Amino acid sequence: MNFYPGPSKVYPQVMHYAQEAFASGILSLNHRSSTFMHLYESTTNALRQHLQIPANYWIAFVSSATECWEIVPQSWVQKKSLHIYNGSFGEKWAQNAQKILAYKGKEIEKNVFEANEILTYQKLADSIQVSKPDTICFIDNETSNGTMLSNEMMPALQKNFPEILFCTDATSSLAGRNLPIAHFDVVFASVQKCFGLPSGLGVLIYSPKALERAIEIDDKQHYNNVLSLHENAQKQQTTHTPNILGIYLLEKILQELPSIEKQSTLLQQRAKEYYTFFSHLGYTKPLIHTPEVRSDTVIVIEQSPNIVQKCKQEASKKGIILGNGYGKWKENTLRIANFPAIDQEEIQQLKDFFLFFSIFAEK
Ligand SMILES: *Cc1c(COP(=O)(O)O)cnc(C)c1O
Repeated sequence: MNFYPGPSKVYPQVMHYAQEAFASGILSLNHRSSTFMHLYESTTNALRQHLQIPANYWIAFVSSATECWEIVPQSWVQKKSLHIYNGSFGEKWAQNAQKILAYKGKEIEKNVFEANEILTYQKLADSIQVSKPDTICFIDNETSNGTMLSNEMMPALQKNFPEILFCTDATSSLAGRNLPIAHFDVVFASVQKCFGLPSGLGVLIYSPKALERAIEIDDKQHYNNVLSLHENAQKQQTTHTPNILGIYLLEKILQELPSIEKQSTLLQQRAKEYYTFFSHLGYTKPLIHTPEVRSDTVIVIEQSPNIVQKCKQEASKKGIILGNGYGKWKENTLRIANFPAIDQEEIQQLKDFFLFFSIFAEK
């Protein structure tokens, strides 16, 4: 049982679909062939339908979220990018962007907030007035500390700052939470988290406004600039030989999934139960004490470092993989993926394990 927050458990049907992909011959087909183009089209249609992506938004396939960390500063920042985050993934994105923006002579500003803080419209608006960015980068769900943004402030931000591009890294939430994609200009994710698929494929979604900005900037210095991605996306193709197997699996899995509303309601319910469970266990507690900002998809619990060690050891004896802590929470936390591919039976076994572990923890 794998509760690592990515790569995590893949849907069991992946085995069957991987064999089917092999038998169909598509894995050896040219990625400029009509069969591939057909697959590309049906996969983007399925994504659009499942995630309720606005009809005028574009979808490109890339290799990973990390690649998108470079695509955004390359293709979309005019003069200044503002990164708003509270954890390690936000920090890493900002560091990646900083390198690219530095040699292009552009600026970056980092606005780091506390993990337990609720981001409000007013706070963001004030920070925009001061730093005057043209691009804002959020982390929808911070996988290192288990916090998520409410996104309630997005409609007002979009309305009052129409010149800004709003970008969000939704790697550990897309396909798990019902993200209002229309409230962002750029949304991206890899598929090894909430999509329940093998790693090695990323999805980049961008708005007409984002496309316009990229055309204005007209930077094609690197192969993975958005203009080249877009040129290919229009032909149902990719800039590079893509992960055809990954795209095939994505298309098949999307056909089977319950609606995003159902998936997100299920995860919300399970997350609530997890937080209640861990709040009452005694030897552990949720890392985040502001309920409003707790993630629905990555549950982070805090314990003393030696209990963390013992807990991982005992879990592994029972065939349970728990996620290590990450970044500054590496030693004193455990992370548990609450992704849709994990079923109720597995969650029950995990909870049983934590109840059983109480005897060790209290010694
Ligand atoms: C996992 C993760 C990434 C990195 O994904 P890759 O597929 O390794 O590029 C980026 N951002 C967030 C928020 C993540 O959770």
